[in-house]
Amino acid sequence: MNPNKLENAPETTTTSIKFSDLHLLEPLQKAVEESGYSKPTPIQEAAIPPLIEGRDLLGCAQTGTGKTAAFVLPILHRLATYNRRADQRQTRCLILTPTRELAIQIYESFKTYGKYLKLRHAVIYGGVGQGLQVKALAGGVDVLVATPGRLLDLIDQKYLSLRTLDVFVLEESDRMLDMGFIHDIRKVIAMLPARRHNLFFSATMPPDIRRLADTMLTNPVTVEVTPVSSTAELIQQSVMYVDRNRKKDLLRHVLQDKAFNRVIVFTRTKRGANQVSEVLAKNGINSEAIHGNKSQGARQRALQNFREGRTRVLVATDIAARGIDIDEISHVINFEVPNIAESYVHRIGRTARAGAKGIAISFCDAEERSFIKDIEKLIGKPIPVDREHPCHSNAVENSRLMSPGKAKAAIERGHGHGGGPRRGGGRNQRRRPSGGGPSSGSGGRRNASSPRP
Ligand code: AMP
Repeated sequence: MNPNKLENAPETTTTSIKFSDLHLLEPLQKAVEESGYSKPTPIQEAAIPPLIEGRDLLGCAQTGTGKTAAFVLPILHRLATYNRRADQRQTRCLILTPTRELAIQIYESFKTYGKYLKLRHAVIYGGVGQGLQVKALAGGVDVLVATPGRLLDLIDQKYLSLRTLDVFVLEESDRMLDMGFIHDIRKVIAMLPARRHNLFFSATMPPDIRRLADTMLTNPVTVEVTPVSSTAELIQQSVMYVDRNRKKDLLRHVLQDKAFNRVIVFTRTKRGANQVSEVLAKNGINSEAIHGNKSQGARQRALQNFREGRTRVLVATDIAARGIDIDEISHVINFEVPNIAESYVHRIGRTARAGAKGIAISFCDAEERSFIKDIEKLIGKPIPVDREHPCHSNAVENSRLMSPGKAKAAIERGHGHGGGPRRGGGRNQRRRPSGGGPSSGSGGRRNASSPRP
């Protein structure tokens, strides 16, 4: 949390009312104050009052809007107001998230804002032993943050039951569906008591997401903040046209500028992330890669090093595009342009968080030009071209625009991007974010990626 953030934040990112106007319990107000926030963000102002009343909520918002506190605070308020002890192996509130990183972050928010309340929180996700998680659940918890795979595993093993739950939150629902979690979500919903308080969040609202929301929510309040297609105004964006095999030179070149002091470089593949990180290491640039093949411990360490400024460059696949909440990221570099336009918005949203300024640069080769066109269509404006740098290629900029289908096929055939062909790379595999999938076991879950809008 950055106590200076409010001073830096423009008027538009917070509202005229104060947290004290929201009638949150005193211990919550105290914790918020200590976090350095005096004014709620628009989503907090809109969502907290109806959530305190117990209304269902449909929230259309991405991270960076203050969304987490918008649900964590009123949930804690209600759990503490209507306090009852959770039975053994039961939880009163479940927050389901697509990735471990997001689960941990939300759990940390519950701990931060709930530090003056006597509520019990736990987080469960795969990729680590289950022993400590089972222990945490044994006596019952008030709040449980979970990824779907591990949640269902522990329920199957009878370490947890959702029978007496009061509040259910589905986070990043569009991402959940995109990662193939729809069957898991349905299974979880079928286990919940009929009478409950429901919160549903999604950055986008295509028809399949809306249908899922309709099955879950009763007479919800709808809160919509910064739709995904309106790229944060504070982000200065540019595209650099470059030959595929000169991207690494270009990256080295731009990173010579010391103003690039906290940078996320996005690649589409895990292998690409490793390769970029290796090239940077060879050139004396301190970086770490984070993606689904890394152990949970390695990912957390890399994030911590980056957060604390020990690592200057974090190389990440799209899994990191959502959920990572790190302040003052100076630059986002799309080493590879995402083939899903919305991923672009999520990636660049890692900079310019909560009112700060940021810069996003996309390295675009000939095959990726159509992806840039898709992105410009989504964000409703052209991305300025930077022709100043030495690696700029007129030939790439003026090359014949491939159809998106052809471009995707060319990349799938292994024409570069992350270096060489990928094993087993099919269309669905490319559309899925790397890693961060089901938190445990069942490999089949990853194959059910539903198409994005
Ligand atoms: P989120 O959208 O929940 O990922 O939050 C984005 C960032 O905004 C996080 O760094 C939060 O700590 C920060 N934040 C949350 N609430 C406020 C607030 N009322 N004013 C300023 N920043 C906030």
